[in-house]
Amino acid sequence: MGADEALARLKAGNRRFTGASVSSGKPVAARRAATVDGQHPFAIIVGCADSRTSPEIIFDQSIGDLFVERTAGNLVDDYALGSIEYAVEHLGTRLIVVLGHQKCGAVQAALSGGEAPGHIHSLVSAIHPAVEATKGKPGDPLTNAIHENAARVAAKIRQKARFGALASQVRIVEGYYDLRTGKVDWAK
Ligand SMILES: [Zn+2]
Repeated sequence: MGADEALARLKAGNRRFTGASVSSGKPVAARRAATVDGQHPFAIIVGCADSRTSPEIIFDQSIGDLFVERTAGNLVDDYALGSIEYAVEHLGTRLIVVLGHQKCGAVQAALSGGEAPGHIHSLVSAIHPAVEATKGKPGDPLTNAIHENAARVAAKIRQKARFGALASQVRIVEGYYDLRTGKVDWAK
């Protein structure tokens, strides 16, 4: 499935999720059986580990539909980049979504500053440039930093991931999930 069609499918799924027609009684057993011998997820989601932002739920999808990478702050490291490259090259996925969300605790931690203990420090350091870049801008500092962080992660994927001859088919978009409405807004 091409990137544009994949994005349309995510938008339709999110409309079902926010509307009255959320799928109930998904045919999970049938989907499980249908995907035993292979997976062809139509989108890669780079999302936050936040328990309120599960991509399969907010996009109303099922087993085998989404290839998901999640860390606090929807960041990508070399492992995530390798996973993304794998999905593009071997699973046929062409759409990559970097999904930030309202009230992201990881971005809030970077915004608050101070010393973060243990490995939380790595997360906060990775998000810090987004906080610096949006300092003093009009609007809510946390929302601005969340958008900036997602844009920077998308840029990092564009710069560092290697898609070879498939590069022209790959589309990377940023989304922003609203915890209250359940709606995903798309950049640009
Ligand atoms: Zn978050």
